[in-house]
Amino acid sequence: MENGNDHGRKRRILILGGTGEARALATSLVAMGHDVTTSLAGRTRAPLLPPGAVRIGGFGGIDGLAAYLAKTRPHLLVDATHPFAATISANAVAASGVAGTPLLRLVRQPWSRPGGAVWLKAATMADAASSLPRGARVLLTIGRQEVEAFFPRTDCWFLARMIEHSPAIPADWTVLTAQGPFDQQGEKHLLVEHGITHLVSKNAGGPQTYAKIAAAAELGVPVLMVSRPGLAQARTVRTVAQALSVIADLCRNG
Ligand code: NAP
Repeated sequence: MENGNDHGRKRRILILGGTGEARALATSLVAMGHDVTTSLAGRTRAPLLPPGAVRIGGFGGIDGLAAYLAKTRPHLLVDATHPFAATISANAVAASGVAGTPLLRLVRQPWSRPGGAVWLKAATMADAASSLPRGARVLLTIGRQEVEAFFPRTDCWFLARMIEHSPAIPADWTVLTAQGPFDQQGEKHLLVEHGITHLVSKNAGGPQTYAKIAAAAELGVPVLMVSRPGLAQARTVRTVAQALSVIADLCRNG
């Protein structure tokens, strides 16, 4: 025990971030005196930075992450990336195994269908794109990385909402750059204003972007809900509070 009492024990924790939960966790852990580094992929130009140390950019696959863990020797690796960030989450499982670093996954609960809502589940973006009926007016809320799957649907009209514009977007699409949280009234207004017939969403979960789901349900707008990618088994918690509780146990017993 480094500081003589359980509460004062300082731990080195590496958080794989890019989510609100990762920032909230880093904020709490830094306030408790832990030595926290958050890792960001570097996708957004002006990311919201958490307190503590921040490193930006890929590690170089499983080997790169394992080498980083071996060099920096964190007591715990927390994968708090987005539920659709499947590659880094898979790398976290493999690299933590190689380096012998305990891993905790913090991933929010998926949304479940509100009563009366019309949900069509899609396993992939390509499935979602091919499920749209001809002439659909679509609100696309999947970010910018996977929008290409919808480019062949020139028979549909698209309003794509994303944090940063992508130069790849077809000229006849309408792009709305915005970042949550959004409220239900605003989302209803958006759906009505643009005559949206279909909402496409990832099942991201969490309160920040839930309003579109509630608004679509209220208006009877069908939702094409893209399911989360499957991930390898890892110790998993759903909330920041649960993560803090696991880390407190680790400080007491680890
Ligand atoms: P991904 O497909 O799972 O990862 C692709 C590569 O990006 C990884 O192999 C890794 O490169 C690098 N990477 C991803 N997250 C990283 C992190 N936190 N720190 C360092 N390197 C990281 O990831 P993604 O879906 O592109 O997501 C990238 C970031 O955006 C993540 O931090 C995620 O939490 C956030 N985000 C994603 C979404 C989404 O819908 N996918 C939504 C909101 C936020 P190396 O192999 O070189 O290490």
